[in-house]
Amino acid sequence: MTENISVLGSTGSIGTQTLEVCAKHGIKVSALTANRSTELLERQVREFKPALAVMGSEESARDLKVRIADTDTKVSWGNEGLCEAASIESADTVLTAVVGMVGLKPTLAAIEAGKNIALANKETLVAGGSLVMKAAKDKGISIYPVDSEHSAVFQCLQGCRDKKQLKRLILTASGGPFFGKTAEELCDVTVEQALHHPNWSMGAKITIDSATMMNKGLEVIEARWLFDVPVDNIDIVVHRESVIHSMIEYNDNSVIAQLGVPNMKIPIQYALTYPDRYPCDVGVLDLTKVGGLTFYEPDYDTFKCLRACRRAMAMGGTATAVANGANETAVKMFLDGTIRFNDIGDIVDGSLDFVEVKPVETLDDVLNADAAAREFAEYYAKSFFPPKMCGGIPLPTWID
Ligand code: MG
Repeated sequence: MTENISVLGSTGSIGTQTLEVCAKHGIKVSALTANRSTELLERQVREFKPALAVMGSEESARDLKVRIADTDTKVSWGNEGLCEAASIESADTVLTAVVGMVGLKPTLAAIEAGKNIALANKETLVAGGSLVMKAAKDKGISIYPVDSEHSAVFQCLQGCRDKKQLKRLILTASGGPFFGKTAEELCDVTVEQALHHPNWSMGAKITIDSATMMNKGLEVIEARWLFDVPVDNIDIVVHRESVIHSMIEYNDNSVIAQLGVPNMKIPIQYALTYPDRYPCDVGVLDLTKVGGLTFYEPDYDTFKCLRACRRAMAMGGTATAVANGANETAVKMFLDGTIRFNDIGDIVDGSLDFVEVKPVETLDDVLNADAAAREFAEYYAKSFFPPKMCGGIPLPTWID
């Protein structure tokens, strides 16, 4: 069980719930980091008294420093600060809930420093899965999933005596706010509509990823690395009620599922208290109130991102880093109003055609692929997506 933690991304949805779990179970907090939320980080510093607090920029770090001048907490900023928080000596576990592949370097720093990882930052594994898993193995540390689907699989696997008997993983997907729609019907989707998730309350990036179903594609890749299961043995089933959080199937066709109310506190707490379980202040699952559970095939035609993630995984090497980098940029541009909803899928899919894919040998291979994908996404948006057009535009042919 975790005794002392460093929380990267402590002011987001996962971060704040993590601190509630820490407060309840007496887990000490060594470091907290936030991107921009100075005010909330100040409150957290006063409550949890970490040795280190990190802000995204120098400017916000200066602001925080003034706010908490009367405390003993040291203030740092930027990527270096994140890595410092990730490797702080007093912590035994680093929970990483930052958004995007910016989490990759600090995760590697934490592993290098011998910390166990509670992973809520899926882009880290999507971009640099082979590097992270190898580093974890070399250092003999554990990576505990916080993502609800992966926590569900992890919980189901507790009864697995021999992984050779495991046949497949079945990840459930809520289907997001646009379940049942065709690509054409999604042409005029607004940011507000895309941010309205039916079952989960989450940050903006992951909510858009859920609406495009990129989130599920990222989760298939995440599962491939976490559980070392071939990607062809990882299936997706759309399950609208978000009651079954995922399942595993054995070679005798027996299926084990993990169920619960859709509340991230259960997976967060299990990652921190593993292998033990404790009471958790979430609602009890009343199946008679749920009434029925429904299941559907995912729609790979409408949700191009989902298909692109499968494609990236099959391509191997830096392809998943490319798809992720293109998506991170595309989501930002959609939220800014620069591109339309369906453009996200076109950009992610297109990045796999036009950005060079190489084997992953070093961190630089991943970082370069990510940078190239971001550049591609920006160029593509600027040149080929005037605001009134929608999808189906031919890809530029001159990029080699
Ligand atoms: Mg998830």
